[in-house]
Amino acid sequence: MRGVRAAGKLSGHPPELPEADRTLMTNATDAAARPAEHAPINWVTTILFTALPLASLTVVPWYGFTHGYSLAAWMLALVSLWACGLAITAGYHRLWSHRTYSAHWSVRTVLMLFGTMALQNSILIWSSQHRTHHRFVDDWDKDPYSASRGFWFSHMGWILRDYPSGVNDFSNARDLERDPIVMFQHRFYVPLTIFMNVALPLLAGWAVGDVWGTFLLAGVLRLTINHHFTWFINSLAHMWGTQPYTDENSARDNPVMAFLTYGEGYHNFHHIFQNDYRNGVKWWQYDPTKWLIASLSWVGLAGNLKRVPELTIQRAQVAMQFKRVQQALEARRARVGDEHIERLKARVAEEYAAFRASVEQWSKVREQWVADRKQRLLQRWEETSFRLQLKQIEQGMRLQRRRLRAMSKASLA
Ligand SMILES: [Zn+2]
Ligand SMILES: [Zn+2]
Repeated sequence: MRGVRAAGKLSGHPPELPEADRTLMTNATDAAARPAEHAPINWVTTILFTALPLASLTVVPWYGFTHGYSLAAWMLALVSLWACGLAITAGYHRLWSHRTYSAHWSVRTVLMLFGTMALQNSILIWSSQHRTHHRFVDDWDKDPYSASRGFWFSHMGWILRDYPSGVNDFSNARDLERDPIVMFQHRFYVPLTIFMNVALPLLAGWAVGDVWGTFLLAGVLRLTINHHFTWFINSLAHMWGTQPYTDENSARDNPVMAFLTYGEGYHNFHHIFQNDYRNGVKWWQYDPTKWLIASLSWVGLAGNLKRVPELTIQRAQVAMQFKRVQQALEARRARVGDEHIERLKARVAEEYAAFRASVEQWSKVREQWVADRKQRLLQRWEETSFRLQLKQIEQGMRLQRRRLRAMSKASLA
């Protein structure tokens, strides 16, 4: 929201402009307002991250036309693409950066190895930077891949130069420094990377009788796709999509992004509830990372899966709906007239107050129930009565939410 507000002030865009467009404008405006920064170029990453996409666009198709790729090479590419992608989302991100669950050492080792293969730096560096990103999201100087510095910077520009915002500071990752698997990878990152990205594809290629085909598809092309799909989470997932839970930062929910990033595209939810092991929190939202973690917990290889209470999530959603309706009504004030708008605003505010009262009532009943259970005084009939009370309030809340949604649709139409 910081950025959006600034855009309104700087460029004077009308409030009716879609949220997404407004943020893009913000980035452009902010970027133009700040002088270009000429931090020293990081030659290793620049050469590598230029050569990989170039080779994927030239050598990979050329080899395909002249020699052809075996089915085994394609399969290995697909399997390694998913393994590396999920190692970043389930491992680097949801396990190590946010501690949304705990995992058996065997799972952590596999996630560490395929995360190394994704070539996105060590767990320690990645997670520490990511924690900084959450803490200072959108801040020009402190967020290492701040979306307010524009698409290019947040996508990959931040990796190609040694910006002051990207300096390593592990004071926010002391827990990771105590993790032997994390520290082993950090110490032997270069040899591990070479083994996973060069030796392993060549070895696998030799095993299936298509050495260069496998190297090009499961090595070069797979790495390029892995990189850019992950980077979309820092760039596009902060620019394109909806904000159902909060507009305090630029993060967006976007099912297209979720499809490309193993569920990480529900980034608006993630930025407000980063401790939840789910990003696609609704059961129907496409989030393979969440399904993987849940499956691991079913077979006993993961535990302590953290979930934000449903009511807290609903509260955030309804607060956003309320905010939107108020803004939309305000924008129509000139057309509809003060009196009518005030009446509508009062009705919406009433509805919102009723919802908040229900939330409070629900929490109170629930608290009483839990307290009673603790004292082991609960009779069967009492339990039924608590359940019934909670059910009734929940039903009422569902209706309240539906009414608010209808109002918001009507006022936005
Ligand atoms: Zn983010
Ligand atoms: Zn995160």
